Amino acid sequence: MKKIFVTGGAGYIGSICVEEMLNKGYEVAVFDNLTEGHAAAVDSRAVFFQGDLADRTVLRHAFGEAKPDAVMHFAANALVGESMTNPSKYFRNNVASGINLVDMAVEFGVKKFVFSSTCATFGIPDRMPLDESLPQNPINPYGESKLMFESILRWYRQIHDLSFVALRYFNAAGASANFGEDHRIETHLIPNVLKVALGQKDHVEIYGTDYPTPDGTCIRDYIHILDLAQAHILALHTGHSDFYNIGTGGGTSVREVIETCKKVTGREIKAVEKPRRPGDPPRLIAASEKIRAELGWEPKFQNILPIVESAWEWHVNHPRGYGD
Ligand code: UDP
Repeated sequence: MKKIFVTGGAGYIGSICVEEMLNKGYEVAVFDNLTEGHAAAVDSRAVFFQGDLADRTVLRHAFGEAKPDAVMHFAANALVGESMTNPSKYFRNNVASGINLVDMAVEFGVKKFVFSSTCATFGIPDRMPLDESLPQNPINPYGESKLMFESILRWYRQIHDLSFVALRYFNAAGASANFGEDHRIETHLIPNVLKVALGQKDHVEIYGTDYPTPDGTCIRDYIHILDLAQAHILALHTGHSDFYNIGTGGGTSVREVIETCKKVTGREIKAVEKPRRPGDPPRLIAASEKIRAELGWEPKFQNILPIVESAWEWHVNHPRGYGD
């Protein structure tokens, strides 16, 4: 497993996985249409193909050049709110275009497919922490599109023997020294809080303070992006085809994130309390026993402090993100 074809390698999670793989000696080809990603986020050691997964001709050309042993599929639209107003975009890009990619993997005899899935495939779980045995009932087209692609992988495994690992991320956060989080529309908590510390936003909004949690704000399982990257590398080498939930198993509330950001940045951060954001479950925490046991994954960063420290360092060094 030497040559890895990475879709979405110019995006936040993809770019850092690419960097980590290159650091470990893999050969990496990045395929990205740059609608959400950034050219400057593609590690200069990788081969870069600019293209859209909807275009099978361009994709086939890239596969022919790269001749990959494995595919990592990060490219997707990932905004829950947008998926509720434009489901077509989510089903076309995350499902239909994804079919082009699995077809190409089969055509070129790829041995392993690693897929970015999400805890949003579960909807509102009735048990916590979330393990893989819980029923999946997504409550938005984003989660549904990822679940549909999970099903596609199951069938391609059975019919075409394409082995896969689907990693269901909880809240990816933090940065490496070189690459970080720069979304064109920023909806995520940590970068939005840090923008206030940088003086780029007046305040951060807290979406809901009346949740049934100790401080009334939502609790999430934040996982360091470097730990997530290690899981992808481990996934390349397992004989299993399976689905894994991946988080640290710890929970941090919105208020705790803001307090940690104040501590790390040493700056005042104004927060304004707002009503709940539709579709937010009060508490999402991963049970990661399965991935620890079966893939030998062991997160290095168990709490929010080093995650925020790494994100802050990146934002201070890249105050305008990738600048495009
Ligand atoms: N959140 C918030 N203010 C923001 C962005 C997010 O209060 O500006 C809350 C959001 O409601 C959720 C948590 O922070 O409870 C994490 O949200 P994020 O969008 O980072 O990730 P999600 O859990 O939605 O994938």
